[in-house]
Amino acid sequence: MGLEYFNQFMGTNPIDKKTNKNVWSYTRVSSKDQKSNKSLSYQKEYAEKYAEKKEFVITEEFGNTFESAKGDFTRKEFSKLLDRVKKARVKPFAILIYKMNRFSRSGGKGIALAQELVNKYGVHLVETKSGISTVTEEGEYQIWKKLLKARKENMERLEHTIPGLKKFLEEGYYLGKAPVGYSLYGTKVQDFNNRATEQRVEINEDGKLLMKAWKMKANGERDYVIRAFLEKRGLKMSKQKMSAMWTKATYCGISTNKFLDKPIKGNWKPIVSVADFKKVQAILAGSTRTSGYKVEKTNVDRPLTGFIYCSKCKGKLTSYSVKKKGLHYYKCQSCKGVTLNANSSQKSIKTGAHNMFSDLLLTYKLEDKLVAPFKEQLKRVIKENSNEEYELQEALLKRQKSIQNKIDKLTDALIDELIDSEVYKRKKDILEQELEEINGELNIDAKKISNLEKMIDDSVELSQNINVYWESGAYEVKRKVQELVFPEGLVVNSEKRQYLTKKVNRLFQLKASIAKDAKGTKTKKVSKNADLSSLVAGTGLEPVTFGL
Ligand SMILES: [Zn+2]
Repeated sequence: MGLEYFNQFMGTNPIDKKTNKNVWSYTRVSSKDQKSNKSLSYQKEYAEKYAEKKEFVITEEFGNTFESAKGDFTRKEFSKLLDRVKKARVKPFAILIYKMNRFSRSGGKGIALAQELVNKYGVHLVETKSGISTVTEEGEYQIWKKLLKARKENMERLEHTIPGLKKFLEEGYYLGKAPVGYSLYGTKVQDFNNRATEQRVEINEDGKLLMKAWKMKANGERDYVIRAFLEKRGLKMSKQKMSAMWTKATYCGISTNKFLDKPIKGNWKPIVSVADFKKVQAILAGSTRTSGYKVEKTNVDRPLTGFIYCSKCKGKLTSYSVKKKGLHYYKCQSCKGVTLNANSSQKSIKTGAHNMFSDLLLTYKLEDKLVAPFKEQLKRVIKENSNEEYELQEALLKRQKSIQNKIDKLTDALIDELIDSEVYKRKKDILEQELEEINGELNIDAKKISNLEKMIDDSVELSQNINVYWESGAYEVKRKVQELVFPEGLVVNSEKRQYLTKKVNRLFQLKASIAKDAKGTKTKKVSKNADLSSLVAGTGLEPVTFGL
């Protein structure tokens, strides 16, 4: 038997007796992800349905944004609500909340404010999911209970999660979204393609580019240059993001998550070595300024001053002149008898330091018959060194090809009537514009490569005439040639009248190895080994372009 008949005798629920029809709706989500977006619209929908059923009008929507559940969130949120309520000309009858736990994460103080809202301003709280509200005394009690319960649940969850989290981190796993350059594989990742049973953090294509970016940074390159370098290769990075990246130990393969007591080694491969990371930190701290360029006294007639060292005490030789005779000398301040005349003369018995140096340079001169193999080797070495320009060209050609492919596919799609001509045109325009940009960059790059080839020619020319440059060059040129060929200077044995070479520019080492090749000794391997392939790295080739 239906009891519908007795409906008319039911006690009236106080909530249906209201005269004020205005209510506010309150929603909240705990994160920005898609799930939360759904949750948000669901909460809104629920509030709307409830309002419709009870003939309420939602005049204001409150919350909506995500708020982290940390700290005294409830109190802050209630304070805001209270302010709004106080200021509102027309006060709402109630605030609709999907579930009370949406509202409460920190209990006590929040509840006090909620009570103020209800008791002082007469604005009720309604939980739309259960229909419980502060309108009745029983409901009010239940609402406070729910707030407390939510608080308790939250506490328990934190207690439960943190130790687990810590253990997870201590085992070297990564927590959170993978930083640029790394791809995260695991059970909980958003991208379904990256689902895996065991967590893996792997260096992706961007990461390979970032390896170079870190190298550049460690070598003192400026951020805007690095950003341009990355962008040309398809990785856009904002200024802020880049400067934030330089301080992330994650890139060193180190986990510094705040839940850990101390840094630990992560289960992922580093993108930057610890040494380079430290260099970058030093650069950021501005502490890498080298001891400063030491201006040396110009000794126009004694260019070897400060460049040659005493073989006995390893100290720098100084120089002086005997003006009356117009003679110049090099001398060790610490060792007795270590003196060299600068120039050979009929009067001097011993060969002059300058003449000795000329002779030494002559041994580094590139003979004509070696020019061709030298050039060939130099070119190969430059290419092998994954020279930036060559690499860029390769990357650009790859992009060019892929866009061409896309255009072809688009045309196919048009022919197969999968897209209409409007879509075709729009997409094609975008692709063609991109293609044009790439072509432009390819042109610029081709110019750089031709400069590189010109640099090879210059290097050859310089190597062929190195002694001439020194002998006939002005003081500045002489100094440059000296530093170019022997970047660390020379040690001189004054008794034996002999220079002992320390470090020789790799360009001239290359020449030496070619010369051995030509003699037919078994040095073919030497010319191909890694030592030579580092020729252009660092100080290798660049100084050659100093514009003699
Ligand atoms: Zn000495």
